[in-house]
Amino acid sequence: MIAFDLFCSKGHKFECWFKDSASFEEQKEAGILTCPICDDRQVEKAFSPFAIKRGGERLKEEIDPHRTMQVIQDYLDKHFEDVGVDFYKEALKIHYGETEKRNIKGTATTEEEIILKEEGVQFFKVPIIKRLLN
Ligand SMILES: [Zn+2]
Repeated sequence: MIAFDLFCSKGHKFECWFKDSASFEEQKEAGILTCPICDDRQVEKAFSPFAIKRGGERLKEEIDPHRTMQVIQDYLDKHFEDVGVDFYKEALKIHYGETEKRNIKGTATTEEEIILKEEGVQFFKVPIIKRLLN
């Protein structure tokens, strides 16, 4: 048996016992979990990503790191020109005004990154997600 602190959507906190973590999900899916105070069926585990409070508002959306990274990737795809391994050369050219100023993305080696930093080129790194096939 496992005890979870639960919250309903109105913010009532209560404790419930479950056979295991999966049975919480099962009961929640089945809609048989209810708040003992107000009978609300929107019950979430405390300390779960959905129970994060911001400005008194409950964030309903699950914070999924893969989803977050996907949003960043989509943004980069839309707004940045992919220059691939020429990132270093292009970034320097833009920095020195030898080519049109624009947003670019690509890959750089560690040595190239060090030089870019020394030259004062503004850039940031994002991890590339490798989608795992189930
Ligand atoms: Zn309640």
